[in-house]
Amino acid sequence: MTAPDTSAAPDTSAAPDTSAAPDGSAVADASRRSRGVTSAVVVGAGLAGLTAAAELAAAGVDVTVLEARDHVGGRARGLQVAPEAWVDAGAAYLGDRHTGLHALMAELDLKATPTTMRGASRFALHGDDATTRDGRFPPLNAVALGDLFERLDELTATVRPDAPWLTPDAEELDALTAEAWAEQHLTHPDARLFFPLFLGEMMAADPARVSILHVAFYLRSGGGLRYLNAFEGGAQQDRIDGGAHQVCERLAARLGARVRPGEPVRAVHQDDDGVTVRGVSGEYRADVAVMALPPLLADAVEYVPGLPARRASDRTARGCAVKVHLVYPAPVWRDHGLSGWSVNAEGPLLSTVDDSPAEAGVGVLTGFVTGGEAPRFAALDPAEQRASAVAQAARLFPMLPEPVGFHVTDWVNEPYSKGCYASLFGPGDWVRHGPTLTAPHLRVHWAGTETSTEFFGLLEGAIRSGRRAAAEVLARL
Ligand SMILES: Cc1cc2nc3c(=O)[nH]c(=O)nc-3n(C[C@H](O)[C@H](O)[C@H](O)COP(=O)(O)OP(=O)(O)OC[C@H]3O[C@@H](n4cnc5c(N)ncnc54)[C@H](O)[C@@H]3O)c2cc1C
Repeated sequence: MTAPDTSAAPDTSAAPDTSAAPDGSAVADASRRSRGVTSAVVVGAGLAGLTAAAELAAAGVDVTVLEARDHVGGRARGLQVAPEAWVDAGAAYLGDRHTGLHALMAELDLKATPTTMRGASRFALHGDDATTRDGRFPPLNAVALGDLFERLDELTATVRPDAPWLTPDAEELDALTAEAWAEQHLTHPDARLFFPLFLGEMMAADPARVSILHVAFYLRSGGGLRYLNAFEGGAQQDRIDGGAHQVCERLAARLGARVRPGEPVRAVHQDDDGVTVRGVSGEYRADVAVMALPPLLADAVEYVPGLPARRASDRTARGCAVKVHLVYPAPVWRDHGLSGWSVNAEGPLLSTVDDSPAEAGVGVLTGFVTGGEAPRFAALDPAEQRASAVAQAARLFPMLPEPVGFHVTDWVNEPYSKGCYASLFGPGDWVRHGPTLTAPHLRVHWAGTETSTEFFGLLEGAIRSGRRAAAEVLARL
């Protein structure tokens, strides 16, 4: 994909037009202003929307990207922890199979840096007493965990990856929460203890709020349980040097003034000739719209004519994750033979990982607060959050000094994300909404990682969804 560098080019995009339209409204008519050139409004400047916009711009479409926040990137966000040192407040990890992301990084001159995972792990799975173990396998009954993984593998193998709602027994599996499935199938206490921790880490899911069909689909879509869970050779092998947000920032820089931050979209009206997209500062007229938002947010927009079917339900849940960054003068745990990795039965930090930026001099431990623990932690005041997270980190890694920096990113309550890593499809969601997730609504097309059956929920899924949506638009135009 090669989007031309247009940052210096004159803006021909659909700026809100202050001249009065015949009906008296201020209507920007991109299709009128760019006679003979097709036009599109993309809603959402996350990786999916920016990928779609870049593809459309490269094909000569007059494209405008409307973004609610004052910055691009959506669930990919950088956090500066020291001069010249950035970490990922949102998406962080990638693997070799994420070919679209690797290609984009090469095009944008971004490099991967390996995730550091050398040394022993810490586990606090029974109360506060942490034990040290080589490798990442928890000190729990190996047969019970082996049985859990085998059962998940079997389920994963049955899922129709391209259409989970057509999986054999889809209705039955989709009606069952992961929690109910665990009660039915897991007898050993260690498997029952580990399953919610695994789901929390893997997909920021609360087992009570997600269907087991969704769990199986997510694992299948991401390349299987082992690939998703692995660092070396797996989906968490690398990070993007300097932060994943740079992919979005560089794409947006190429699109230049076509990207309009601070423009939350409230309504999309369409008629025989085009779409009118209403933002806070005006209306944007184009031939088509691409909605590149999580389904819960896309459903909150008003559509005229209305959608034939909703794309999310009251059971569609927000992904439950709060990311905590503890910054130290150096990654001191490494001097003690520890990797910084820990898994903990009690919160707030259910796992930790060494996310120290390469060659930046500081040590960064990222704590993941996931599943049911995430909303509880998010509700604490900042002082309580800091006290509980710092104390837990010190119990896990007694050599730690006082942190020199402490940051909390609460994705559960982000109004323009409504959770992360991705939406959690609750009981019945796949069967009811799956078939409509990508079906265009007349001139409205859908993108976003939740619309990708490949690498659903990941950056790679966002890229693939953006490309699919752009291809649909180009095919119709
Ligand atoms: C803490 C965390 C950890 C993660 N870890 C990983 C990881 O390690 N690896 C990985 O591959 N993925 C990870 N992910 C997931 C990854 O970030 C997402 O899959 C990806 O960024 C989704 O991109 P998107 O464009 O589909 O959606 P988004 O990034 O959510 O983009 C949607 C955009 O639409 C905007 N918007 C919303 N409503 C409106 C509106 N009404 N009008 C206009 N604009 C609107 C939003 O502000 C946002 O910018 C993680 C996410 C988080 C938050």
